[in-house]
Amino acid sequence: MPAGTTRTERDLIGLGIIVAAIILFVATGSAALTRLARHLLFGEAAVDTLLINALLLNVALIIFGWRRYVDLTREIAARRMAEMAALQLADTDSLTGLLNRRSLGAILPRLIATAAENRGCLAAILIDLDRFKRANDSHGHQVGDAVLIECARRVREMLPKDAALARLGGDEYAALVPFARGVDAIAQAEHIAARIGTAIAMPVECGEHTISVTASIGIACNPAYAGAPFGDAADTLMRHADVAMYQAKKAGRNRHCWFNPSMEAAMLARSALEQAIRHGVKSGEFRPHYEKQIDLATGAIAGLEMLARWHSPERGLIGPDVFVPIAEEIGVMPELSEALIRQALIDARDWAPHLTLAINISPVQLRDPWFAQRLLKLLIEARMPPNRIDIEITEACLTENLPMVRSLVTSLRNQGVRISLDDFGHSASSLAHLRALPFDRIKIDRNFITSLGKSHDSAAVVKAIGSLGRGMALPITAEGIETPEILAELRKLGAFMGQGHIYGLPMNADDLRRDLAERDLLAQPPLAQTCEDQDRHRA
Ligand code: C2E
Ligand code: CA
Ligand code: CA
Repeated sequence: MPAGTTRTERDLIGLGIIVAAIILFVATGSAALTRLARHLLFGEAAVDTLLINALLLNVALIIFGWRRYVDLTREIAARRMAEMAALQLADTDSLTGLLNRRSLGAILPRLIATAAENRGCLAAILIDLDRFKRANDSHGHQVGDAVLIECARRVREMLPKDAALARLGGDEYAALVPFARGVDAIAQAEHIAARIGTAIAMPVECGEHTISVTASIGIACNPAYAGAPFGDAADTLMRHADVAMYQAKKAGRNRHCWFNPSMEAAMLARSALEQAIRHGVKSGEFRPHYEKQIDLATGAIAGLEMLARWHSPERGLIGPDVFVPIAEEIGVMPELSEALIRQALIDARDWAPHLTLAINISPVQLRDPWFAQRLLKLLIEARMPPNRIDIEITEACLTENLPMVRSLVTSLRNQGVRISLDDFGHSASSLAHLRALPFDRIKIDRNFITSLGKSHDSAAVVKAIGSLGRGMALPITAEGIETPEILAELRKLGAFMGQGHIYGLPMNADDLRRDLAERDLLAQPPLAQTCEDQDRHRA
């Protein structure tokens, strides 16, 4: 077969050979058969052997040509099937057999156009499983896959026949549901989304495991949502469903939410804030401020708690309640905290050596198995004795991977770092948390202290925590002391270390330095100076 011949050409050539052979057969065959008949009937000369051979060759050619034609046809059919299978594979999600993101994207504009032509409506329903990663991690990928397949099946069951369903990747599905003109699309889509949510929330039996997952569902309708048109582009529809899904997550998961335009504004503001935080971390806009920790028995400053502040050139001074949760979510908290600690260790060189430095650590930092090593390295670099450092962790740190947190805390304690349990009393399981790790100090949740004098309950809780501390030989800090009345009340309830606005607001490094200088609480000679001298000596 000549190079470059296409399959159809080859197909035709095979067919051509047969046709030519048949024509030859008819031509030679008719002459040979006539002669053979005459020879037999009238005794004329025998048939020429050459003609017989030509005839046989012709028959062989026809058989050969026919077989070749059949083989080629079979080969072509097999190839066509393989091509179709490959095409289907590229269009479907191999795990669930649903459409994939690419193929959904390909049909979406057509569905929108059809809905517009028919003056109907197309609803996009975006379904994201809640905390699926946790189920996947704890039961293994096989179980995770089975859950994804079962969820796909349940969602499909809840959708009308003409709806398209895709797995967009991971644990995210998208359904496109067309509604005819005159149908109450909003009510119907709402009903479908609710049924999908309920179906997914039913436990999934998987071997010996029973897995329970829920879903957050976002819905958007195009071209009309609640009577207000908002464009008909495919990506707009999907983005709106995505925004609504995000809102469902934010509102507590396991629910469905309709898109509304104000959500998008909030999302844009949030994403601008995320961008600004990332940029701020890179350009050193986050600075440590310090709050005094007072020994209530003597009134002396015992240490300083480092509290992060964001000096944003555009937004002004921002507190950690705003940026810490976002920094945790977008994964920059470890980098942010490390930069703050590095700076705090430099600031602390100027302070009298008996003053301790308390550092708040976020739960996300304790997911890093090298956290203890990283912190100890910073202390070594700054020549800061570990026994001047007090790590404050909240009860939230104890709710995941406790064995690893325990091992990190043990490494730090072995080096002399102290560990405090911050915001104690905040959760119902505080007492259990107290036994989870060998803490060196408890800090009573600020709300109990600020409400002292106003609430009998708070006084009772503070008193109980006071006696608990005495019983366990655990020192206790009361933070949030705002007024002399609270301080007087506190003194009645036990022996505490104290913090709060009564001793001044948290201050930046320069203000603190001046404050400490007035109290004769700076290092003599300044430790920073000593370190520089040592460096020069070594050089
Ligand atoms: P926290 O560790 O419980 O810190 C004490 C908070 O109470 C601080 O708020 C402080 O300014 C405030 N406060 C102090 N005295 C009083 C008072 O008398 N009355 C009232 N109403 N409040 C008082 P801030 O600085 O806004 O910090 C909030 C939380 O942010 C902190 O709570 C801590 O959990 C977290 N945080 C701060 N800095 C960092 C950090 O560098 N890393 C991490 N992971 N978290 C941080
Ligand atoms: Ca704290
Ligand atoms: Ca606290």
